[in-house]
Amino acid sequence: MKAAAFAYARATSVVNALDLLEAHGDRAKVLSGGQSLMPAMNLRLISPELVVDIGEVAELRGISVTGDTVRIGALTRHVELQRSPEIVAHAPLLTEAIAHVAHPAIRNRGTIGGSLAHADPASELPACMVALNATIIIRGKTGERRVAATDFFTGIYETALAAQELLVAVELPTGRRKSAHFFHEFARRHGDYAIAGLAAQAVVEGDLFADLRLAFFAVGDRPVLAKAATKLVNIAITRAGLSAALAVLSQELDPQSDQQASASMRRHLAGVLLTRCVGTLLGRPDLGAG
Ligand code: FAD
Repeated sequence: MKAAAFAYARATSVVNALDLLEAHGDRAKVLSGGQSLMPAMNLRLISPELVVDIGEVAELRGISVTGDTVRIGALTRHVELQRSPEIVAHAPLLTEAIAHVAHPAIRNRGTIGGSLAHADPASELPACMVALNATIIIRGKTGERRVAATDFFTGIYETALAAQELLVAVELPTGRRKSAHFFHEFARRHGDYAIAGLAAQAVVEGDLFADLRLAFFAVGDRPVLAKAATKLVNIAITRAGLSAALAVLSQELDPQSDQQASASMRRHLAGVLLTRCVGTLLGRPDLGAG
């Protein structure tokens, strides 16, 4: 199938893109890497009147580190994230996760801004943003606003972005304490969207978690920052303690059934992920890490 007829405009700056979006209201769509937008248009799931291509807007590019913050421009492509020494040094969770996003051809074009704005609940990057406690930077005609990643994702393919706003960057705190991370997903084939996944960021002190952020994906309508983590922080973890955390996790998740897996299978896989995460990060194979 081919897309319905549409007009095309190449934005020259953020201000120019915002002008174009304002002039066309919700009949316009931003084009970033095009890896989700173009298939949706070709399938006629959406038919915007105007496509605003931001691909040449230089101010949306680049990864920089200032003080305790890593800033990633919205147009940063998946492959650039994957190869960035700054990301390896300050957010290795992302380096590991990005290898699971689709395939090289898609990672060569897809962008972090596009992935976050698209907000597929089975996507890796939204969950990483939640695990890393990222801030999403949004620009509109009236100025800039900053939204915590935990508040940015509001439902399946839904975010806090308004139709006439642009996601311009994300900021990640680098943290002063030595951190550890865990990433794993279950998928039918490497590169497929996950059936269930976990992106976790932790501070491990001795044999305890001093901090633990567990962001599950593909098990709800958005990334889930699991409250089960509170059962695991600053306490010596026993099998009984882990079971209590697993019970909390099972209660708080609300997975859907689809052709890939049933809701109960997804809930089960989330428990397996939590068990592996705790065992791996604490070096405790007795807890069931595999
Ligand atoms: P686009 O397709 O250009 O845009 C996506 C949406 O975001 C559109 O609605 C667009 O208007 C909006 N948008 C884009 N940029 C902005 C911005 N700066 N501000 C406001 N709105 C914006 N993704 C995964 O996470 N995991 C996978 O396993 C995976 N597998 C894939 C497999 C296939 C075969 C394909 C085709 C895609 C797959 N993807 C996967 C999606 C891929 O990661 C896309 O790159 C990503 O979802 C969208 O990024 P994009 O830059 O291509 O955005």
